[in-house]
Amino acid sequence: MDHDLLVVGAGISGLSMAYYAAEAGLKVRVLEQEQRPGGCLHSHRFGDASQFWLELGAHSAFNSYGNLLALLESAQALDRLRKRAKVGFRMFVDGKVRGIPSQLSIPNLLPAPWRLRGASKVGRTVAEYYGRIVGQRNYEAVFGPAFDAVICQPAGDYPAESLFQARPRRKDVPRGFTMEGGLQTIADLLSARPDLAVERDRAVRAVRREGETFIIQTDQGDYTARALCLATPVAVAVGLLKGAFPAVAGLLAEIGTATVETVGVALPADRLRLPPVAGLIGRNQPFYSIVSRDTVPDARWRGFSFHFRPAVLDEQGRLDCIARVLNVPKAELGSKNTVFKINQLPALRVGQGKRAIRLDIALAGTRLALAGNYFGGVAIEDCVTRARAEFERLQRQGW
Ligand SMILES: Cc1cc2nc3c(=O)[nH]c(=O)nc-3n(C[C@H](O)[C@H](O)[C@H](O)COP(=O)(O)OP(=O)(O)OC[C@H]3O[C@@H](n4cnc5c(N)ncnc54)[C@H](O)[C@@H]3O)c2cc1C
Repeated sequence: MDHDLLVVGAGISGLSMAYYAAEAGLKVRVLEQEQRPGGCLHSHRFGDASQFWLELGAHSAFNSYGNLLALLESAQALDRLRKRAKVGFRMFVDGKVRGIPSQLSIPNLLPAPWRLRGASKVGRTVAEYYGRIVGQRNYEAVFGPAFDAVICQPAGDYPAESLFQARPRRKDVPRGFTMEGGLQTIADLLSARPDLAVERDRAVRAVRREGETFIIQTDQGDYTARALCLATPVAVAVGLLKGAFPAVAGLLAEIGTATVETVGVALPADRLRLPPVAGLIGRNQPFYSIVSRDTVPDARWRGFSFHFRPAVLDEQGRLDCIARVLNVPKAELGSKNTVFKINQLPALRVGQGKRAIRLDIALAGTRLALAGNYFGGVAIEDCVTRARAEFERLQRQGW
């Protein structure tokens, strides 16, 4: 047997799992299909003298991310946290940037504190729960588009319980933070641990079981291990497990996938008239949101990641849209300052909590672990929390 644990996927879920295993002295290896670890933690670094970076995926972490912070502390990286500058979100409506309060109906909002009392999220969708609290008009005009922007997919049918979760906050770190060099730095730091091997360009094609041994097939050859953790997007996990763990694959296949077509663009700051913003929330737009780098200001450059709805615009259409919103000639959006990425997120639905319990029952007693953003929620902290729980289960079961 080559390894105690093989981890498939070097996003935050897989890297956390591998980090816990390495700390416990286990022989662990991560197989990642890309050259870059991080998955949705993807700070694109423009390869020129500007050293400018831009988030193509996750952009914010918070002092309530206790498990993530504990990992960073263990990696002696808390001094690399950077506080996000306080700039607000605005909306992009009817071709114009508008303040959020201007879009709200205040009379409809006034009863919200009373409606919140005793309101339960259990079994309710985001639209049902929040629509009742903020009023239908406010939900459609502001809250619905804002929630779509938060989870980069239509949020109406998403479970209300999975959207925001209350967690204890650490007082010794900024409330909202990123890292020096962007959130990619988290993946770079975790994967740099010397006793944690991360192999890049290793797409896993198949998973087999022979007795107590997992056999993981890649184009470069097979790997064997006593335990396996899949930390890929859920659709990939379905494909890899349907032969060896059909019941688990069947449960995972019930979870849908939301695709986000992201385009990042960096422009000289003096080319733009848009005031500093954390981002723009789209209402009736081909994009859910535009996330800006203004939260980590740069003297010369500004950057924006447009998170487009899938299959609405082709590549040229997306560039047209960006040129229009930022009010710059399309010719200024070239291959050197524009970058494209496809992001995938789980489309969670009401009943996800029960499904997660059924998954855990199916996994109990096996040496297969599932880490990912399709359990409690999609936030980075949800991923680390799940990885930790799965690591602790494998520890309890014994290697
Ligand atoms: C646009 C966007 C904005 C977001 N903003 C925030 C935010 O601000 N704050 C926050 O907390 N969360 C945010 N999130 C959510 C969060 O970033 C993700 O849920 C989380 O990073 C997912 O991590 P993961 O490791 O589970 O999956 P992923 O990051 O998807 O990683 C999976 C990895 O598996 C690899 N892989 C896939 N198939 C194979 C295979 N066959 N073989 C080998 N490797 C494979 C992939 O290449 C990838 O590296 C955002 C997400 C997106 C998309």
